[in-house]
Amino acid sequence: IVQWTPFFQTYKKQRYPWVQLAGHQGNFKAGPDQGTILKKLCVKEEKCFKVLMKDVLRPYVPEYKGLVASDDGECSYIQLQDLLGDFVSPCVMDCKIGVRTYLEEELAKAKEKPKLRKDMYDKMCQIDSNAPTEEEHRMKGVTKPRYMVWRETISSTATLGFRIEGIRKGDGTSSKDFKTTKSKEQISRAFQDFTEGFPHAVPKYIQRLKAIKATLETSQFFSNHEVIGSSLLFVHDRFNANVWLIDFAKTIKLPEEVKITHSSKWKVGNHEDGYLIGVNNLISIFMTMLEQ
Ligand code: ATP
Ligand code: MG
Ligand code: MG
Repeated sequence: IVQWTPFFQTYKKQRYPWVQLAGHQGNFKAGPDQGTILKKLCVKEEKCFKVLMKDVLRPYVPEYKGLVASDDGECSYIQLQDLLGDFVSPCVMDCKIGVRTYLEEELAKAKEKPKLRKDMYDKMCQIDSNAPTEEEHRMKGVTKPRYMVWRETISSTATLGFRIEGIRKGDGTSSKDFKTTKSKEQISRAFQDFTEGFPHAVPKYIQRLKAIKATLETSQFFSNHEVIGSSLLFVHDRFNANVWLIDFAKTIKLPEEVKITHSSKWKVGNHEDGYLIGVNNLISIFMTMLEQ
């Protein structure tokens, strides 16, 4: 259970603890303008936000308000709309989308000098002592690329195209304990817990996810980017519910000659991210919740 309050935010004269479900705590602080936050600059991400402000996806991402230097001038931040600003005691969920959360180039780099790693072998055994092969057990080590590929199979990432990163409920309790939440049933239970007491949220989430899906299919940005490690941020309170695309630090422009569907199977080198697999599964899981 995490209880992070990196800073207090003020919006419409209300002061509230800001909620951060992923990433390093030092990466965020309150923005200079009301209703904004600052995230440490990542050049790739800033590039994405600039393009997104001119794309059909604009209504589905936090508004980008430009660069801000830190007080000591040491580093820069991007200023973003605080998506929690219009909510009262918001419930927040971060779902990381895609069938993998590393870039092709990160996997390629890990393959360069594939040393046997005991630390990764130990981590693997801790989660599933049957995961290593006989040979890996004998060597008491696994290679990093092997570990990277395996790690995506312990959560729902590899199979459902998304995983839950963190949830914070309106009562202030929060959890990041979803590393092995994998099956549709487990996910559905977590979603049920997240939306419990807020029945209006589920149909609103479904509607918004469908709009996101339809917009992605016409987006120029989406057609020429590989979207890795990006999340959908779900936010609801007593009255409202909404979803936005966030975190483009690992979203990169595809090479000119490469086209991807975002929904076909990933094979090493084909750049497929499985983003639409994740969105489709999210829609279908929320829809089965309506039937119950
Ligand atoms: P990681 O790569 O580990 O996911 P990161 O440092 O790239 O983390 P983000 O994923 O962009 O950071 O954001 C981390 C968390 O901060 C999100 O899960 C969400 O809770 C919160 N957050 C990010 N952007 C916003 C925003 N615009 N409005 C409100 N909350 C936000
Ligand atoms: Mg993130
Ligand atoms: Mg990130």
